[in-house]
Amino acid sequence: IQKTFSIVKPDAVKRNLIGAIYQRIEQAGLKVVAAKMIHMDADKAKGFYAEHEGKPFFDDLVAFMTSGPVMVQVLEGENAVARYRELMGKTNPEEAACGTLRADYALSLRHNSVHGADSPESAAREIAYFFADDEIH
Ligand code: ATP
Ligand code: MG
Repeated sequence: IQKTFSIVKPDAVKRNLIGAIYQRIEQAGLKVVAAKMIHMDADKAKGFYAEHEGKPFFDDLVAFMTSGPVMVQVLEGENAVARYRELMGKTNPEEAACGTLRADYALSLRHNSVHGADSPESAAREIAYFFADDEIH
């Protein structure tokens, strides 16, 4: 059984989509095993997206991710990393398959409603970045 890390981004929280997105996660057979609402400051967001530092979209990405509260959650299931990436769809909602979260909810490439870890190694790092061991069930 595998864990992955997920964020409901500020654009989705603002539009009252937390419940809809959690429902889609649970319907897909993934279990929410830890969750909380946080409002990241710039240092927290920069650390989270360190791999993108120096890219042209980095500053706007940090501004967006700190523009309001987000939900962070740990999801568990067989092959959870790949299954949740599939549920999200491609980064750009115009390229995301029908029925994916980004096809249905994302507003743009930047305001794309959800994040998901891209490998089991990223998942472990991202979970540890937001959650203490005793917060995960
Ligand atoms: P995430 O890491 O958020 O799950 P991803 O792994 O599909 O998304 P990344 O390449 O890691 O995509 O990019 C991280 C985030 O940065 C994207 O989700 C998107 O919000 C933003 N982003 C990526 N590329 C661009 C771009 N060219 N212009 C604007 N924003 C971008
Ligand atoms: Mg990514």
